[in-house]
Amino acid sequence: MMRRTEIIVSSHSDFCFGVQRALNIAKEALKKNRIVYSVGPIIHNPQVVSEFSREGLKIINDVKEICALRAKGKSKKINLLIPSHGISPEVLRKNRIAFIDTTCPLVERVQRIVRDLSRKGYFIIIVGDKKHPEVRGLAGIAGKNFRVLKNKREAKAFNFPQGASAPAEKKLKRIALISQTTASVSNFKEILSEIAKKDFKELVSFNTICKNTIDRQSEAQRIARRVEAMIVIGGKNSANTSKLAKACRKINKNTCHIETREDLKTEFLKGKKSIGIATGASTPPYAIKEVVERIRRNDI
Ligand code: SF4
Repeated sequence: MMRRTEIIVSSHSDFCFGVQRALNIAKEALKKNRIVYSVGPIIHNPQVVSEFSREGLKIINDVKEICALRAKGKSKKINLLIPSHGISPEVLRKNRIAFIDTTCPLVERVQRIVRDLSRKGYFIIIVGDKKHPEVRGLAGIAGKNFRVLKNKREAKAFNFPQGASAPAEKKLKRIALISQTTASVSNFKEILSEIAKKDFKELVSFNTICKNTIDRQSEAQRIARRVEAMIVIGGKNSANTSKLAKACRKINKNTCHIETREDLKTEFLKGKKSIGIATGASTPPYAIKEVVERIRRNDI
């Protein structure tokens, strides 16, 4: 008789609280309005975004698109929703747009820290991906004196910008380091230690990685150590899911990152006696059930 594959599912496999909150707010908004616009995807999961788009949530790429709609008088009342990873509040203020805010309170906290550091004249280093909406929002708040660093290599190559005058240069040597909420802890520490080798007047750092991200990463790595293969489910555009897969791959080379059960290859499952499953913060819980069913079918 064939032995059933052992499947270990991470205990951190629900939506994180910020994502769940954003989806609840969006659902309420869609009950009251036929169309709601979202600046970028509400969360980084294509399957959930499709479900919401069927309910009337339309994605726009830029706040300017809303201004254009308003100018054309296409809509009397525009319902604009800010996704869980936030956008720069300065952009909204400039365009005087009312909005439904689903920004995660933990992202808002990082925005407050950046605003405060910027006012105090620090040069801000944001650890993260400069294309990610959360980081773009933070950059918008930081003003001119900031840099986004993705990894140790970029941190090594980083040089403080030369001020036009001596006092300005002195001021720029007051450095503050913060992180995208979904950055990896090891990456943050590596960048911090590289920056600490530079010539600075003052260095302060804020580990602003959210606890849910940290717990998800450590639980997934714990499982990855125990199993023959690891499956990480979540949007390919989700920063925390991609980092989760990378963290698991460091420990277990047999790690694959999939969005849905359809992405799972029979070849990958073949002969595996134990499989671990972890999910990103924006992965719907039903995706796990579907993947488990797919593995069980392979057992037959
Ligand atoms: S991962 Fe953390 S910071 Fe991001 S939405 Fe979820 S709870 Fe908020």
